[in-house]
Amino acid sequence: MRLGGKAKYLVEVDSKEAVEEAVKWAIEHKVPPLMIGGGSNIFWRDEGFDGLVIVNRIKGFEDKADPDGVTHLVTIGAGEEWDKIVAKTVASGLSGVEALSLIPGTAGATPVQNVGAYGQEIANVLVHLEAYDLHARSFVTIPANECAFGYRSSRFKTTDRDRFLITGLTLKLIKKNPEPPFYRAVEEYFSEHKIKSFTPFVVRKAVVNIRSSKLPDPRKVANNGSFFANPVIEKYAIDLLLADYPHMPYWPDEAGNGKIPAAWLIEQAGFKDFHDKETGMGTWPTQPLVLVNEKAAKTADLLAFKQKITDAVQAKFGITLVQEPELLP
Ligand code: NAP
Repeated sequence: MRLGGKAKYLVEVDSKEAVEEAVKWAIEHKVPPLMIGGGSNIFWRDEGFDGLVIVNRIKGFEDKADPDGVTHLVTIGAGEEWDKIVAKTVASGLSGVEALSLIPGTAGATPVQNVGAYGQEIANVLVHLEAYDLHARSFVTIPANECAFGYRSSRFKTTDRDRFLITGLTLKLIKKNPEPPFYRAVEEYFSEHKIKSFTPFVVRKAVVNIRSSKLPDPRKVANNGSFFANPVIEKYAIDLLLADYPHMPYWPDEAGNGKIPAAWLIEQAGFKDFHDKETGMGTWPTQPLVLVNEKAAKTADLLAFKQKITDAVQAKFGITLVQEPELLP
């Protein structure tokens, strides 16, 4: 978002040893350590951070195939750029993360909010991750079933926020072509482009094109991607809303509740292609879920704009939108 104050200390780490050393330094100097990856899904308070920011630059990519040649265990350094990893696995004909193409940020950040898109999520392919445990002061291996994964959530952003510094991931990917049905937006892309044979590469290309057509490039336009999570609402509340808004889009989930696109709520509340003179913030013309910093000077401006949107959605629909990127520290 290109907002917020300064960090008192910052170090880049490229190995597990360097992580341990940085933590030791922070403890000795009595300042809190805080690890970040690419910085794409976080924004900082105007007060800044009176501690040590540890930027994860741990690299590594190892692909081990089972004797059957179908199942591959791919071990990745947490500081790798996520989309480069997706591109590499897809180039090897591996399926499992192709729909997670073009998501900004590092590999190590993906389990924190259980990154998901177009029908795939990291929880489905993660075998285990490696992390430095600030409580135990040692490295630990955490299997996927101990990550408390939920919809865009995990223990790393809830009960164990600030406890683990993720250094590596192992994913289980399959050398096999993906099969229909695909997520609706991907299906629509295939039918529009008359694509009838599906490979991980074809799915990646579809997702890259869909995302590029509606999302701003964070290198050029300051943004955090989707600023709000898509709300999951109980069935009775969906039915009440449908009485007033019969054309409201929603998707039933496994529990019978409904997911409503936050973008639709924001648009209906009057914030489509919106440019706020007061705060210098706006919504991206082709995706109102993405808040962009047009000429805001402070994080307070972003928070004020966020409040305008959440208040308007609350007043119109009785739904409280929940912020997705993390405000630090
Ligand atoms: P979108 O595809 O129109 O999705 C909006 C909402 O409708 C989401 O809750 C999505 O569920 C649901 N939805 C759409 N098609 C669906 C289908 N065929 N089956 C079930 N649910 C469906 O809007 P978008 O905001 O541009 O997002 C595109 C994809 O990127 C979505 O999968 C979204 O979740 C994902 N995304 C993820 C993150 C993240 O991990 N932090 C951030 C931004 C966007 P799902 O969310 O379950 O897909």
